[in-house]
Amino acid sequence: MSAHGTLFAGMLQEFEGAARILNLEPGIWQMLTHPKRQIIVSCPVQMDTGEIQVFTGYRVQYNVTLGPAKGGIRYHPDVSLDEVTTLAAWMTWKCAVAQLPFGGGKGGVICDPSKMSKRELEALTRRYTAEIIDSIGPDKDVPAPDVNTNEQIMAWFSDTYSMHVGHTSTSVVTGKPVEMGGSLGRREATGRGVMIVAREAARHLGFELQGSRVAIQGFGNVGSIGAELMAREGAKIIGVTDWMGGVQNDTGLDVAKLIAHVAQHKTVAGFTGGEPLAAKDVFKLDVDILVPAALEKQITEDNVGDIKAKLIVEGANGPTTPGAHQALHSRGVFVVPDILANAGGVTVSYFEWVQDRHGYFWTEKEVNERLEAKMCQAFNVVLETAQKFKVDMRAAAYIVAINRVATVTKLRGMYA
Ligand code: NAD
Repeated sequence: MSAHGTLFAGMLQEFEGAARILNLEPGIWQMLTHPKRQIIVSCPVQMDTGEIQVFTGYRVQYNVTLGPAKGGIRYHPDVSLDEVTTLAAWMTWKCAVAQLPFGGGKGGVICDPSKMSKRELEALTRRYTAEIIDSIGPDKDVPAPDVNTNEQIMAWFSDTYSMHVGHTSTSVVTGKPVEMGGSLGRREATGRGVMIVAREAARHLGFELQGSRVAIQGFGNVGSIGAELMAREGAKIIGVTDWMGGVQNDTGLDVAKLIAHVAQHKTVAGFTGGEPLAAKDVFKLDVDILVPAALEKQITEDNVGDIKAKLIVEGANGPTTPGAHQALHSRGVFVVPDILANAGGVTVSYFEWVQDRHGYFWTEKEVNERLEAKMCQAFNVVLETAQKFKVDMRAAAYIVAINRVATVTKLRGMYA
């Protein structure tokens, strides 16, 4: 794959800045910039019309030096090998930043789930699982939900794997329903982690979440729960957008009512507790904190000039292009990068995997307390690294992550 101009090229740019500061050896540099394994599968599915449609699926195991590959599965029409490989690389760095014993992986299927019935989605999930089955497992590669996949899809995934291996395997996948080995607190974990790092970053900058003004792009799992928990801390959620539109209220939106509206209408658009907000205008709002929680490449060189927030917390993976990041950095905007800001999800996925392997389950309070400790520790290590090397938080997070993976790569030595 030629990396030029791709999402992967953007990841490499982020990697290179940090690798240079670390004076990374050329051989280790090579190893950490190549995916270990890229799997492409064709998944035939009999649709409700009786016709057969073939869907292309990917699973990429980017690096497994620290442990089994870990990363979600995305169902979206724009999924590509470049996107999945980059997301798998980001998972590698994210697990290392959060100090989890996991490598990085990611999966995706090119499909539009909004146009598929439940039966078709189940058939696709089971066939995709069967196609990659030899490469996954609790010690090899442990998937999870991502955009447009959920607990039900993880339940079908787990069941298909269990049927093939001949016993119930709970720890092959995380983000499962609690009734079948899921962890309490997993559904809220990414949004909770976003709230925790937003609170820590605000304190570092000299303000509190209480009374701060927040805008959020994307109101799915990460955006809606992040909004709810930040509002609970006293923040005012001024504006929210999703793929169909948005809503704003200068005195603060009622987040619980907005969540109820979305459950009914599938979009924040049309919510009567505020004024309409065009999707692209969310970045223009006069706020303290901006949380991009939708998809990649949303903050670009074209719209970065509109941003008024002094703190950006990247709930989504890769929402800021490298050029836009440079512009934010030179303006002194404090950016908590994706591989730190949204690590709450994979951290509680790790807790879920640990609980499944022990067959002993924690209370929600225990999960949340351990998540709080892990996120604060990761935030502080990255902040200290930023101060030590006089770099921004993104470069610092990469320095922490690359250093951890490189150290273990060297300790393990070369298998030839
Ligand atoms: P989701 O499918 O639940 O929600 C995505 C939201 O983004 C929806 O509200 C959708 O309408 C909105 N959206 C899509 N395109 C948009 C656009 N162009 N403009 C405005 N809004 C748009 O997905 P999610 O699980 O919340 O994931 C969101 C992001 O967070 C992704 O980048 C994902 O990789 C990342 N992430 C998710 C988790 C997790 O645990 N769910 C963990 C880490 C990172």
